[in-house]
Amino acid sequence: MLCHTMPMATETASRTSRQSPDPFDVFATYLKEHRLRNTAERNAVLKELVQAKDHLDAEGLLVRLRKRSHPVSRATLYRTLDHLVIAGLVKKHSFGQGHAQYEYVLGRKHHDHMVCDRCGLVIEFINDEIESLQEEVCRQHGFQSTNHVMEIFGICKDCRSAKKK
Ligand SMILES: [Zn+2]
Ligand SMILES: [Zn+2]
Ligand SMILES: [Zn+2]
Repeated sequence: MLCHTMPMATETASRTSRQSPDPFDVFATYLKEHRLRNTAERNAVLKELVQAKDHLDAEGLLVRLRKRSHPVSRATLYRTLDHLVIAGLVKKHSFGQGHAQYEYVLGRKHHDHMVCDRCGLVIEFINDEIESLQEEVCRQHGFQSTNHVMEIFGICKDCRSAKKK
């Protein structure tokens, strides 16, 4: 039940081939190291993100947590999200005009995103050719990449067909 791994194509530069560590252990260690309390609220935020199969903004997370009768204050939520990002458990995306969106990444393979400007749909993709071309471009510039973000904005299939009607 650890993580909802989506079926995804293989990639060239996988960072995680070993078994992924338990997110709650990783977070507990982080909190201890930073002398922060390991609270039920903080763990509820992490749990929600681990279970979510999507990219969620903070408001969406608040709603979900309330539905599960795990109310977390907005301030706690934002602070917890910051910690989860620093701890490497969660990635924060700012997809264009919308609010920042968060996704659980520990043990997940690298992937890139397409974002619909109309409905906000986020499509995950990985393309080995694009990945190696990026590495190639970096090599040409004597640049060693540590990370990259690839986001394509546009209009998704559903929104495109809605427009035609
Ligand atoms: Zn990529
Ligand atoms: Zn759309
Ligand atoms: Zn993603």
